[in-house]
Amino acid sequence: MFKAVYLTRDGEFKAQLAELDEARLPASGVTLRVDYSTLNYKDALALTDSGPVVRQFPMVAGVDAVGTVLESDSLDFAPGEKVILNGWGCGETTWGALAQRARVPAEGLVRLPSGLSAHDAMALGTAGYTAMLCVQALKKHGLTPGVGPVLVTGATGGVGSVAVMLLAKLGFEVVAVTGKVDAADYLRTLGAAEVIDRTGLSGAGKPLQKERWAGVVDSVGSHVLANACAQVRRDGAVAACGLAGGMDFPATVAPFILRGVTLYGVDSVYAPRAQRQEAWDLLAGLIDPALLASASTEIGLADTFGAAADIIAGRHRGRFIVDVN
Ligand code: NDP
Repeated sequence: MFKAVYLTRDGEFKAQLAELDEARLPASGVTLRVDYSTLNYKDALALTDSGPVVRQFPMVAGVDAVGTVLESDSLDFAPGEKVILNGWGCGETTWGALAQRARVPAEGLVRLPSGLSAHDAMALGTAGYTAMLCVQALKKHGLTPGVGPVLVTGATGGVGSVAVMLLAKLGFEVVAVTGKVDAADYLRTLGAAEVIDRTGLSGAGKPLQKERWAGVVDSVGSHVLANACAQVRRDGAVAACGLAGGMDFPATVAPFILRGVTLYGVDSVYAPRAQRQEAWDLLAGLIDPALLASASTEIGLADTFGAAADIIAGRHRGRFIVDVN
């Protein structure tokens, strides 16, 4: 038997901590003894039934885990190896990893990089790995430190906090956008050179605005993304990964056709393994464990329901690590 965050919809939706028989795990995949999981925005949507994340019920929630391989149907992973799971449908179309045991598709796994603890891997989680993918998109575009300020939206969130840390560590001048008036000190500690209030970006804006940013990492979408694009300098780039502020994109083509701005879409869920392993190896080398600890809170499986509500209400900062044992 193992403990898991178990979601059912028998008439009405129910999220509970349940004891499940291992015989109920999916028939195929790599079996993990989970050390830690985490709560991402997507997990919070699933646990609070706030968005169409879970495609079939009953479902064990959780898109992320770090743990030890117990059994494997893949030649790529052997029993005893420490691995990280991110996405690949876990917690959405197949059982996830807010649980003590999981059986997951090998495609969603990478090796835990040496030098990164299991605990810190889940302090980063999909949010941190996605922040790294966004930073990689900007670097591959040609952005280098010294080109000008890089804007990070949703800055106190999981993706945002890690993006601020990574960009600052790489030497970029980071400008953090937040809706939390009291978060400036937190964001400066993570590495932000400047902190600006989200309200200036939240409403409808002009198609082209004063050129300010060499690059943008956006986890918010909607007007914030549209205004950020309108403020990017000629030939700059935007890496968009999220919709915390809305799925709409009320923008015009002006920044793209009149300033040569490039908009990169970032999808972590089905990124190929080589790309995810590269992102995790880079994260392991770049992240400062002490800073990461200051941006994360450890909770247990039973605490995930309240924490999910905090994420949806935008009341939290940084990351939740879930000790499943
Ligand atoms: P968090 O909830 O940790 O952070 C989101 C942040 O966005 C909040 O902390 C807040 O920051 C800001 N925010 C919240 N609500 C609003 C709002 N109504 N308007 C504007 N800003 C708002 O989530 P994550 O960082 O884990 O994820 C962020 C987004 O990225 C989510 O939409 C998630 O689904 C997406 N995502 C996508 C991935 C992909 O593969 N494409 C992978 C991972 C995440 P502040 O108060 O500082 O402004």
